[in-house]
Amino acid sequence: MGDFSLDLNEDQLQLQKWVHDFAEGVVRPAAHEWDEREETPWPIIEEAAKVGLYSFDFLANAYLDKTGLTMALVLEEMAWGDAGICLAIFGSTLAVAGIMANGTPEQQAEWIPQCFGTPDDIKLAAFGVSEPDAGSDVSSLRARAVYDEAKDEWVLNGTKTWITNGGLANTHVLVLSVDPALGSRGHASFVVPEGTPGIRQGQKFKKMGIRASHTAEVVLEDCRVPGRCLLGGKEHLDERLARAREGKRTSTQAAMATFEATRPLVGAQAVGIARAAFEYALDYAKDRQQFGRPIIENQAIAFKLADMKLRTDAARLLVWRAAWMAANRKRFDAGEGSQSKLFAGETAVWVTEEAIQILGGYGYVREYPVERWHRDSKIYTIFEGTSEIQRLVISRAMSGVHIQ
Ligand SMILES: Cc1cc2nc3c(=O)[nH]c(=O)nc-3n(C[C@H](O)[C@H](O)[C@H](O)COP(=O)(O)OP(=O)(O)OC[C@H]3O[C@@H](n4cnc5c(N)ncnc54)[C@H](O)[C@@H]3O)c2cc1C
Repeated sequence: MGDFSLDLNEDQLQLQKWVHDFAEGVVRPAAHEWDEREETPWPIIEEAAKVGLYSFDFLANAYLDKTGLTMALVLEEMAWGDAGICLAIFGSTLAVAGIMANGTPEQQAEWIPQCFGTPDDIKLAAFGVSEPDAGSDVSSLRARAVYDEAKDEWVLNGTKTWITNGGLANTHVLVLSVDPALGSRGHASFVVPEGTPGIRQGQKFKKMGIRASHTAEVVLEDCRVPGRCLLGGKEHLDERLARAREGKRTSTQAAMATFEATRPLVGAQAVGIARAAFEYALDYAKDRQQFGRPIIENQAIAFKLADMKLRTDAARLLVWRAAWMAANRKRFDAGEGSQSKLFAGETAVWVTEEAIQILGGYGYVREYPVERWHRDSKIYTIFEGTSEIQRLVISRAMSGVHIQ
């Protein structure tokens, strides 16, 4: 078990500095351009692959850290640089989490490296659960996977929506219904490998924030994948479905298993945005003169900054706790993963809005980064479970009551 300490070890400090330097030198200077272009920032992803930040080895090493903090540190620094670019680079890791949560060791070894490719041949991955009529309510997925026993193939049909890297990705990991009567207990995860016919990108969405990150529909039309693309394997699925049909307990549902593991890391990104806005507003408040003195000399401004610092640090502590618990396989008895994501997301929205207020008119225009940080922050109360859904998870976990 990794001891929890607020003193980062030498490796963590070095890595944090290395990622911070990348975020400061490469990511942040590019943030405005890619926000305006609303396109995947390939040159930055290439740079990240070249230095080894976007790679299977990097992720594998980060996950070896028993304290669980390494990925949280990396993502805070990257989102401090720019959340949209951070997601463009690390969006593939959601698919990795899906494979980790549901795949056999052989499937993990086969598919995870393919989510990244190599610096000379970069690959992206996407993880898709959401559908037009199934967002928070993942039990109502309509996209279907039907088994063709004669060919040992699965036939996939339906539409996934809001998918990060959707259609652009080389590898898609998709959660589909194999037995709609069982709701979320009838779901299974499938890998759709590169080059599979029958999968295509639908509408690409124009967004309020994180605009360097590609979000689109994924359309499946008689998309056939070999039997081995079912994560966890057919035998395991059949056992699970049989138990569900008998009304017995089954192991964690496919989508939920993925989100449990990734929520603290989503929270870490929100902490990065909040910290960026706090630091910027602090410098600005010391510099900006009105009524013959720096605006920070007014308590109204200084107290705002105190609260911004306070909430950002509190959010980080919740993120680190949940990341440590996840790495050490501690059960989230009170929805600690959800707590971290909920508090960090709402903190980022609040802190970035206060930062706009501190900058006044300069906070509201695109020449300054603060309005972008506010736009970017909002998604953190929506994706990977809205704030309302996080409160549902926490309240159910802490009370044992099935709160609606
Ligand atoms: C930029 C972006 C990227 C995304 N990336 C991905 C991705 O890579 N993969 C993926 O699968 N999905 C992705 N999503 C989808 C995202 O997870 C969903 O948008 C989210 O889960 C909410 O679903 P919904 O939009 O359908 O909202 P709805 O579920 O329709 O919710 C609407 C409102 O109702 C509230 N609500 C719903 N049910 C309840 C309830 N029981 N109690 C209280 N309030 C409730 C919600 O909190 C929300 O305020 C992404 C979304 C966006 C915008």
